[in-house]
Amino acid sequence: MGKRCIICEKEANFKVKDTSDYYCGECAEEHFGDISLLVGIEEQAKKLKAIVDEKTEE
Ligand SMILES: [Zn+2]
Repeated sequence: MGKRCIICEKEANFKVKDTSDYYCGECAEEHFGDISLLVGIEEQAKKLKAIVDEKTEE
C-alpha cells in the first residue's frame, strides 16, 4: 500500500511537509533541489512504530 509519486507515479519515498503531495526521490530532487525540505515517509513510519512499540511495552 505504498504512496505514489504525483509526477511519475513510481513508489513515493517523500512527502511535502503539511501537504499530501508525495514524490519519489528523483522527482523530489528535481522539483525541489533539496530533499531535506521533504519528510521521508519511511522515517515517519519508523518513528510512529517506535512510539507504538514503546506504549505496548509499558
Ligand atoms: Zn517521481
